[in-house]
Amino acid sequence: MKIVVMKFGGTSVEDSAAIGRTAAIVASRTAMGKSPVVVVSAMAKVTDQLLRAATAASQGDRAGALAISSRLRCRHRDTAADLVKDAAESVALARLIDEKFAALEEILRGLSAIRELTPRIADLIVSHGERLSSRVVTAAFRERGIDAVHVDAREFIITDSEFQKAAPIHDLIEKRTPEKLAPHLRSNLVPVIGGFIASNEAGLTTTLGRGGSDYTGALVGGALDAETIEIWTDVDGIMTADPRVCPDALRVKEISFEEAAELAYFGAKVLHPATILPAVKKNIPVQVLNSRNAACEGTRIVSLAPHCKSPFKSIAVKKKLSIIDIVASRMLMSHGYMSQMFAIFDKHKCPVDMVSTSEVSVSLTVDSNSSLPKIAADLSKLADVKYEGRKALVCMVGEDIRGQSGIAAQVFNAIRHINVRMISQGASEINMSFMIEEDDADEAVRSLHAAFFQNPDPAVFDVEARKLAASL
Ligand code: ADP
Ligand code: ASP
Ligand code: MG
Repeated sequence: MKIVVMKFGGTSVEDSAAIGRTAAIVASRTAMGKSPVVVVSAMAKVTDQLLRAATAASQGDRAGALAISSRLRCRHRDTAADLVKDAAESVALARLIDEKFAALEEILRGLSAIRELTPRIADLIVSHGERLSSRVVTAAFRERGIDAVHVDAREFIITDSEFQKAAPIHDLIEKRTPEKLAPHLRSNLVPVIGGFIASNEAGLTTTLGRGGSDYTGALVGGALDAETIEIWTDVDGIMTADPRVCPDALRVKEISFEEAAELAYFGAKVLHPATILPAVKKNIPVQVLNSRNAACEGTRIVSLAPHCKSPFKSIAVKKKLSIIDIVASRMLMSHGYMSQMFAIFDKHKCPVDMVSTSEVSVSLTVDSNSSLPKIAADLSKLADVKYEGRKALVCMVGEDIRGQSGIAAQVFNAIRHINVRMISQGASEINMSFMIEEDDADEAVRSLHAAFFQNPDPAVFDVEARKLAASL
């Protein structure tokens, strides 16, 4: 059986036209004799709106929260009505949507009385996005002749209880996923699953963190030993930079797991950072494809990328970072100092992105988060501490920078007009990153892109699209 896991992001299911395109793409895979397993995100922007409703309710704004819910109900009902014409199916789907919204509104009402939004309740609320989209998509597929069956991800994507960013329990997922999905696949049915949502061992709803539907796709692909994992989104693939920032970004035709993981970790939103892991373990190729341009080959993520004449494959940017400077003239180099310092970050569950040390100081970068004042207070017991927000980390990724001399000089020459706060070349030797002011980030990406992707290697980058644009 040639299993292909197809994950469709929010824009690929944002309205009835998008869901129609998605259905055609899935049908094209069944026509090729493949067995698709479909993972869908919530309809575009729904997760943000659900979070907004949750926040409003927790602040006592009951009417505001219910108004958001009511708009979302209309959007789902209208999309469903557009897509499903069969009378019985249409009535059943409308009833299902109403039931889900009734449950959601009950939670919002309760929340507005209690006025305390815990991560556990936040997960329960946002889970409605994927629970709804997956139902609408299943019905739309059936209407279009695809034998789709809805399966609730919470029955087999099992995680720990770290609500809002839960970690998968791989043994359980590896066991339960085939148990739940293989019988459907053997009956030639196409399972449709909501991404992002999961449950802990006690059956409470959890989520895999923002952008987590990619991760669901990869977990399912890994557990089923899929032939390929396809990540369908709204751009042609992994590009040399975020096309929203750099309109002349080029599609990267092939990239290694290691490079893609680095890019995702350092802010390229096109993939959730953990997506690559399950695929690497079983060496399953991942493809990033465009649901608005299905004919495009996209990007293949494979274990060994071909040699590339250009040093870098892509530029990623992670914003909303803070820099923490710790100065301790007496203690710094004393034994055990670093471990005490990192123990504090550990205590606050705060990952550190980049570290640089001098004789008397250590600078670290972290995601700007609400625990920063507490972290700073704990650190100030060890040393003098300062922290500053609104920073961005620019990360240039490419396996071909290994051992090349003069690259750093070219990078810093390209952004010589921008003030750089911290520099690091990771131990992996495939990334070069530096920290700048957030306001300078977009300009830095464009300058670097102009410097490094002027004459890209046609074996690795899609230069045809650029030629075509130039000839128009
Ligand atoms: P989805 O809803 O399909 O998961 P996302 O919005 O999460 O889609 O990710 C796709 C977006 O990622 C693109 O629209 C693009 O703006 C952004 N992006 C950032 N960096 C890159 C990159 N290097 N290549 C492609 N897209 C990128
Ligand atoms: N709907 C979730 C989010 O917006 C998960 C995803 O789309 O991948 O973060
Ligand atoms: Mg995404």
